[in-house]
Amino acid sequence: MCGIFACISKDNKTAVKVINGLKKLEYRGYDSWGISYKNANGINVVKEVGKISAFDPEEANFADSNVAIAHTRWATHGGVEVRNAHPHLNKENTIAVVHNGIIENYIELKNELIKKGYEFKSDTDTEVIVQMIDSYMDFGFEKAIEKTVARFEGRFAIVVIDKNADEIIACRRGSPLILGVGKEETFIASDIPAFLSHTNVVNYIDDDEMVKITSSERHFYSLRTGDEIQKRDIQIEWNIEDAEKGDFTHFMLKEIFDQKETVQRAVDQSDEEIMAVAEKIKKSKGVFFVGCGTAGKVAKAGEYFFAHVAKRHVNFAPASEFPLFHNFLLPETLVFAISQSGETADVLEALEVAQKAGSTVFSLTNVVGSSIARKSDISLFIKAGPEKAVASTKAATSQLALLLLIAYAVAGKLEEGKKLLLEISSNVNDLLNPRFVAHTESVAKKIAHKDNLFIIGKGVNYPMAEESAIKIQEVSQIHAEGFAGGELKHGPIAMIEEGTPCLVLVGDDESKQEIVSNAIELKSRGAMIIGIASEKHDCFDEFIRVPESGVASCITNLIPIQLLSFYLGVERGLDPDMPRNLAKSVTVK
Ligand code: GLU
Repeated sequence: MCGIFACISKDNKTAVKVINGLKKLEYRGYDSWGISYKNANGINVVKEVGKISAFDPEEANFADSNVAIAHTRWATHGGVEVRNAHPHLNKENTIAVVHNGIIENYIELKNELIKKGYEFKSDTDTEVIVQMIDSYMDFGFEKAIEKTVARFEGRFAIVVIDKNADEIIACRRGSPLILGVGKEETFIASDIPAFLSHTNVVNYIDDDEMVKITSSERHFYSLRTGDEIQKRDIQIEWNIEDAEKGDFTHFMLKEIFDQKETVQRAVDQSDEEIMAVAEKIKKSKGVFFVGCGTAGKVAKAGEYFFAHVAKRHVNFAPASEFPLFHNFLLPETLVFAISQSGETADVLEALEVAQKAGSTVFSLTNVVGSSIARKSDISLFIKAGPEKAVASTKAATSQLALLLLIAYAVAGKLEEGKKLLLEISSNVNDLLNPRFVAHTESVAKKIAHKDNLFIIGKGVNYPMAEESAIKIQEVSQIHAEGFAGGELKHGPIAMIEEGTPCLVLVGDDESKQEIVSNAIELKSRGAMIIGIASEKHDCFDEFIRVPESGVASCITNLIPIQLLSFYLGVERGLDPDMPRNLAKSVTVK
């Protein structure tokens, strides 16, 4: 959540470069945006409410500058107004700050500053940062930042410039910040795509670290000890095409089509590593799968994979609820975290709780070098490439595939798992053909005007019904709810009336008969049944055929759901890539 991008270079068109990079981070927040750039006249500021994509920096007539910091906001504290947009500046406009995260004790700090005579222009927690740095400036720029962050409770990534210092200073605790090392220019960003067109050499800033950069130098310091830290630059494999939408109209559609390859990439792992994970799972006493949102539904599907394939009991908890189970955590417990970005704040907190109890932590993420990956005892990567649409698609199917492979490894059937997932990958590839896509679009058109929609599934397709509801809510804003098929008659069926669309996710397992019976119960109350299944049934009003996929039907069933959500959004005149009120990579709790 929230995109930060900053650059210091020898090029005096840095403000334009920073705006163009910030556009690549728009998926992280699009309530407002702003930039501060520095030149001989001091610090200049431009801020606007709304999306940055429409802004053309070439037409903005920015004064020449080689230092700029910018931000695209997902508001947590303070409404969506220009005065709350970042950067925030001190009264004299000599210090500017951009921030991702929440300063939890900001009210206390704000009151302290007000008593000292500081006046606040915004309602944000962020403004406290700049005013407090200002209050400590007698100690010098760098010390003032150190003293300020020492007062903070909560998670933050901040980037600061001072009119009188030829450097940018940044530090973090819990929110992402990555350094991009270019030729005679250095970048700091919340995510790599911001600077990927300039460099693929990165250096990860860790928690409780401060970094001081110029166009050619970078110095890291520990915020705990003040000592300088030596860190290695790393060359990453992403290329610029991975982070662009190419010929597709939207990132979401591109990422749905990326699944032609990504499922296979996810399971292309070293046997030794998978077996090491499987052995540790077998030896542990108590396994928890945790995640949020779509990754949470994948984690919940993991319970079924393990029950069915590995025949082992694992517990699922939404990451935000997990800390409440801390009494069950032992040194032998294993906590397995699933997160696309590897930066999800609730997941990070869950891992901190687990590590405090001495438990082992494994993770499955998409981003090498992410906070969650680096916190984990073992980290596996789904290798799906950047996922930029807010609604997760390819990451979800890749996570499902890899988790299923691990379940097979725990069962001692790694080869069988690999074979199945290879078939599934080819099924996904086949599914994404123009006829299938057009058919799904035509179904979307038939239900796009509806206000309510229900999805049912059984077994591993039950968490997928919940995931389908998330996808449809996010992208189309239709009220959608997902249930275990058997649960409907215990209450929700009261919502069904003539023509209510109900999606039925039919699995290729022992649940098949029962879920079809649940669909018939709905049809008897007037529901319009849209069956997603490998076989047609009489009760379906609309049928979307998917290949028979056994225990992996949850993967193939998600493909039409993703397409349906996309076309529902388009049909309702929405931007599928940037759903209302949301942002990618939820780095606040
Ligand atoms: N808490 C800050 C605000 O509301 C930063 C939010 C963000 O991470 O975008 O302005």
